[in-house]
Amino acid sequence: MSSNSIWNKVKAMLGNRCPRCHRGKFWEHGNPYVNLFFRGGRMNEVCDKCGFKYEMESGFWYGGMYVSYAINVAILIGGALFTELFFEDLGVWEEAGLISGVMILLIPITFYFSRLVWINFFVKYDPSKWENVPNNSGANQT
Ligand SMILES: [Zn+2]
Repeated sequence: MSSNSIWNKVKAMLGNRCPRCHRGKFWEHGNPYVNLFFRGGRMNEVCDKCGFKYEMESGFWYGGMYVSYAINVAILIGGALFTELFFEDLGVWEEAGLISGVMILLIPITFYFSRLVWINFFVKYDPSKWENVPNNSGANQT
């Protein structure tokens, strides 16, 4: 069984899970909108199940912006194809406005998944780690 399969990683990302043990929570709240607007976009500093420190080095999350950019380009291209196919009568400015509106509404989701995708590029799933739970009861305090 390939535990490092793409599908396993996708499931962990959709489930807001730690990239290393797939058990602990990554973001404080699993709903991207609640997380951004009511929790200030905070993520846990370390995994409460395996003790993995999410921000592996200072500035690590800048890389998430590239993922965010890629997601927005995908939305732009997908949105342009969709409006061209199904809303032929729309002018170019209406199309641009519609796609921009969708992008703005999706900001919390884009932000949420950009960091999850970014960290999963670098961290391998390692189920042996989650049993070595350090006694870090204060780990989630900011
Ligand atoms: Zn973990």
